[in-house]
Amino acid sequence: MYVDDDLLMLSGIQHFAFCERQWALIHIEQQWAENMRTVEGNHLHERVDDPFASEVRGGIITLRSVSLVSYRLGLYGVADMVEFRRCENNEGIFMIGYPGKWKPVPVEYKRGKPKPDHRDAVQLCAQALCLEEMYSEVDGLDLEIDNGYLYYGETRHRHEVVFDQNIRNLVEGYVQRMHEMFEKGQTPEAKYKTHCKACSLVEICNPKAFDHPRGVNDYLKYALETD
Ligand code: SF4
Repeated sequence: MYVDDDLLMLSGIQHFAFCERQWALIHIEQQWAENMRTVEGNHLHERVDDPFASEVRGGIITLRSVSLVSYRLGLYGVADMVEFRRCENNEGIFMIGYPGKWKPVPVEYKRGKPKPDHRDAVQLCAQALCLEEMYSEVDGLDLEIDNGYLYYGETRHRHEVVFDQNIRNLVEGYVQRMHEMFEKGQTPEAKYKTHCKACSLVEICNPKAFDHPRGVNDYLKYALETD
């Protein structure tokens, strides 16, 4: 089990799944402070535009900006929204003021459209693992959350993510490597790949220079000669 000082930002798992170097530049080297604030601003804006305004609707209890922690995974963060859905069986948790049992379902908002990779899905699954641990501790049960939803601003649609064993294993593997790298303070070397074109840190990272066969000095010499 981790302690408070060891906890890493849960949202970082989306960076890690996209590129381990990107995660290290942001979370180990703190190279993205200004951009991160911009992102957080956008994030808040998303909440203002939130199409799910009511707290209780159609038998669903909605909580927003839910604090999350997992001492087993060593993660902390905030879920944009958690819906609690009424359970017909006995597998859910108690909610004060509401009869019956309820199951949490995390919902994460994203500005853009669905990504071609699983970075948003692993972030959502990490939220579910935190909720499972938190509610299992309080209620003394073995809560398992089956699914969650990603809502994309561009498509204005929810996409279901099923938390099967594969995605759970992916999250566990990513988080373990995040802790190992953070402890060593280790930023991986740049490797230029097609996804670098979509990376907001491409200018800081400069992957073409670092990935040049004869190193950064030869790349700079070449760049100056061909400028
Ligand atoms: S530019 Fe490429 S290698 Fe560098 S952080 Fe971004 S994705 Fe990773």
